[in-house]
Amino acid sequence: MRRPRTIKEKTQTMSDANHSPSPTAPAPDADPNHVRIFDTTLRDGEQSPGCSLNLTEKLEMARTLAALGVDVIEAGFPIASQGDFEAVQAIAAEVTGSTVCGLARCNDRDIDRAWDAIRHAQKPRIHVFLATSAIHREHKLRMTRAQIVERAVASVRRARALCGDIEFSPEDAARTELDFLCEVVEAAIDAGATTVNIPDTVGYTVPTAYAKVIRTLKERVPNIGRAVISVHCHDDLGMAVANSLAGVEAGARQVECTINGIGERAGNAALEEVIMALKVREDYYGLHTNIKTERLYPASRMLSALTGMTVQRNKAIVGRNAFAHESGIHQDGMLKERSTYEIMRPEDVGVSKTDLVLGKHSGRHALRDRVTELGYHLSEEQIQTLFDDFKALADKKKEVYDEDLIVLIEKYMEGGPAPWQLVSLHTTAGTAVLPTATVAIRRPDGEVVRDAAIGDGPVDAIFKAVERVTGVHANLREFVVRSVTKGKDAQGEVTLELEVESGERSFRGRAASTDIIEASAEAYLNAVNAIATRRERGQTREVVGRPGAGA
Ligand SMILES: [Zn+2]
Repeated sequence: MRRPRTIKEKTQTMSDANHSPSPTAPAPDADPNHVRIFDTTLRDGEQSPGCSLNLTEKLEMARTLAALGVDVIEAGFPIASQGDFEAVQAIAAEVTGSTVCGLARCNDRDIDRAWDAIRHAQKPRIHVFLATSAIHREHKLRMTRAQIVERAVASVRRARALCGDIEFSPEDAARTELDFLCEVVEAAIDAGATTVNIPDTVGYTVPTAYAKVIRTLKERVPNIGRAVISVHCHDDLGMAVANSLAGVEAGARQVECTINGIGERAGNAALEEVIMALKVREDYYGLHTNIKTERLYPASRMLSALTGMTVQRNKAIVGRNAFAHESGIHQDGMLKERSTYEIMRPEDVGVSKTDLVLGKHSGRHALRDRVTELGYHLSEEQIQTLFDDFKALADKKKEVYDEDLIVLIEKYMEGGPAPWQLVSLHTTAGTAVLPTATVAIRRPDGEVVRDAAIGDGPVDAIFKAVERVTGVHANLREFVVRSVTKGKDAQGEVTLELEVESGERSFRGRAASTDIIEASAEAYLNAVNAIATRRERGQTREVVGRPGAGA
């Protein structure tokens, strides 16, 4: 019988192949009360249904996260697809200030690919994960406890030979036997992990139980002082933020979270809620973060605009009603003394009391200032085209609000020319006629194709006509029309989701116009273009399987 190689032998082989000395770990944080914020909007968040972003959008979001002051940006999962790799690489090349992190499973290919994507970052980090719970060991990995420890150690060592800053996550840690969790964490730290993340991958834990896990690690793992303990919670039972804070109270000093709480299934802990809980209740926690809280609302709004996932009205911190006081008694109290019913001021999180309104006579300078304040980074050329679009819109509707501008700016986030472009559109509809649509669409080769269709209504007729021209057949899973701002002359924004026949993946399309029929056509074409582009580039994540909630 062949004897399995021991951990020591394996490591030996690896260090032989790699003669450079191990890079040094980042200097430890001298401040014990500093909680690091690890944002995974672009990884855990982006991999959730309906949240995919293209490279331009990811870069814009990464700039916003860096300006917000997050300590670590998890930029993606480089092995998952060429698109993921390129996005992580672009973010690593550009972002300064924040650490840029790439995710990898515990195998050599993943780790090397992650390193390739982040190696030029000012502060790179590799994040490796491996499931440790009994249910994952037995059913998913079919590995014994000893094999798990061996694989984790080998992977952390390999990553550490490349990069000084290594995070290790025992996936499904919250459901892992405590003694085994302690064993894995100790081995990972010994192998060179500088952060150990304790994910509640499936959103199963409750605050007291989770705090106990963190406390036990602190008490029982002898080398725990050499690493930062991190929390990563999912919101399946609505307790992601509460669990994260319980973990912090028990000694964790890194919180993994996402803007607006987007993420797998019910989502991750919402960054803005964690931040404001720590800030508003600093008297209780005695802890602080590097986040510039007045940038929270602009960041939330940008993510909503980029993904098309709107935030529920009563969402804490960033929902539309979060600072609205409706009842007479409350309003009366507010007028006398704000603190009677207000625990934080809207301006603390970047909600301005009045949306600045631009009009027909506003100049280029005012427009540029507003764009910068909204957190977008546009070139001079883009500002010029935006100014033209803005003037055209101001002719149609008198007042141009922030939301209107964001919708216009969206065009610059599309990332390259669209393969199919709408040239013209005509619809007829009414109570006694057959709804009909005629479309003229420019094909990728430049030729303009015309076709017509009838449908249940004008929008249905448009979709059918577009389908005939493009040959892209998909199921419409969601169709939402929403007014971008107040007023009868407001722009209508159409967000829709198409599912390709394989049922594997969904694509979102979005467009806005003062004419919702036109917006519907543009949004549909937008989604069709996303399908076409992805097919062309072969960017299917399914090649390696999605990492699930990963860590
Ligand atoms: Zn997760």
